[in-house]
Amino acid sequence: MSIIIVEDKCVGCGLCIKSCPYDAIKRVDGKVRITDDCRMCGVCLPVCPVDAIERVGKEERVGDLSEYRGVLVFGEQRNSRISPVVYELIGKGRELADKIGEELECVVLGEDVTEEAENLINYGVDKVYVYDDPSLAVFREDPYVDIIVDLLRKIKPNIFLLGATAIGRSIAPRIASRIKTGLTADCTELDIDPETGLLLQTRPAFGGNVMATIICPRSRPQMATVRYKVMKRAERRPGYKGEVVKMRFDPEEVRDRVEVLEISDIGEGGPSITEADIIVSGGRGLGGPEGFKIIRELADLLGGAVGASRAAVDEGWIAYPHQIGLSGRTVRPKIYIACGISGSVQHLAGMKGSEFIIAINKDPSAPILKIADMGLVGDLYEVIPKLIDRIRRLKKG
Ligand SMILES: Cc1cc2nc3c(=O)[nH]c(=O)nc-3n(C[C@H](O)[C@H](O)[C@H](O)COP(=O)(O)OP(=O)(O)OC[C@H]3O[C@@H](n4cnc5c(N)ncnc54)[C@H](O)[C@@H]3O)c2cc1C
Repeated sequence: MSIIIVEDKCVGCGLCIKSCPYDAIKRVDGKVRITDDCRMCGVCLPVCPVDAIERVGKEERVGDLSEYRGVLVFGEQRNSRISPVVYELIGKGRELADKIGEELECVVLGEDVTEEAENLINYGVDKVYVYDDPSLAVFREDPYVDIIVDLLRKIKPNIFLLGATAIGRSIAPRIASRIKTGLTADCTELDIDPETGLLLQTRPAFGGNVMATIICPRSRPQMATVRYKVMKRAERRPGYKGEVVKMRFDPEEVRDRVEVLEISDIGEGGPSITEADIIVSGGRGLGGPEGFKIIRELADLLGGAVGASRAAVDEGWIAYPHQIGLSGRTVRPKIYIACGISGSVQHLAGMKGSEFIIAINKDPSAPILKIADMGLVGDLYEVIPKLIDRIRRLKKG
């Protein structure tokens, strides 16, 4: 499907140019043209006074699908360090690439990232495309999307995987819509259909009550985002042979509509929930924001991080980066302590992979107690101070 301008009818009035929300209609050599930025929203169709704009075709294939080869992983980095989710994508990407007999590649954008990018080869990557430039030091959607779209058009990967991080979630849909392909967000499982060779993209649907497996048969690349701590991290393969391709781009050719004035951490401090071995989480059962003081006290004592249910976040008791669950972060700590959290399917979706789950709840029928390895039935304001006291005494002893 595409939107075209019927030249015989077009009178060049330019009303469609003004109407396009994506700036995808331009005047070239005196003629009105629809560019690759078109997202087929159709806003321009009723605007044309002479009906010169038409939607044509039933379904669009991106040319010959067999031209698309390889699994490409977005090598996201922060402060010039490759993000941990990338190693998990590489682990899964290697497995998928081996199943379809194609190469595993990575793309890294940033400043001073070449060394880190080269190191990815030691995890079984066949080729790494590196855009190392001071202008890419701080993440902005415009240049990242423009550069990656340009690369995808050049190298034509069969599969493109990104982390479902703030950056991945921001650029993946923009990229997918620019190159007119599908995108499955927040996949929890990826596999290859042995019969068709298509990527099977599985993710929770309908609030986590069913698992949906999605395919992308008519366009390429097959794009998916995956959350951190969902897939297994790639093993190191010292001595693996791969290639680093240093890429150039013309800053004049990429858009940049955002000016970064300041970067500040909106977390409440302490270790990050995605990295911590121990997480102490609070829910609506805390009764108010002050309840997180006792949660933090216990977390600090254990050297852990503070998590939260969505109910606590929605109440404004704690910031969103602490939210665990379907619409928050996925965590897999060694110990997860749920305090005043009922255990909805959406919360469990983000923490059920924890090694040892302890639940403190005053309701003995709370669902969280069914999946907990240890349940403490009682008022959290009585149980937690006793726990804190006991741990302090043990530490002293
Ligand atoms: C599309 C969608 C996405 C969602 N995403 C998420 C998500 O990412 N994360 C998430 O958490 N939720 C998510 N939710 C919301 C989810 O359905 C629940 O509403 C939420 O998890 C409930 O949070 P809670 O357990 O803190 O609160 P409640 O369900 O109200 O449970 C509070 C618990 O505290 C106990 N309690 C009360 N007082 C005390 C006390 N003094 N001592 C001990 N225990 C006490 C109660 O017995 C109860 O079990 C999502 C919902 C939807 C529809």
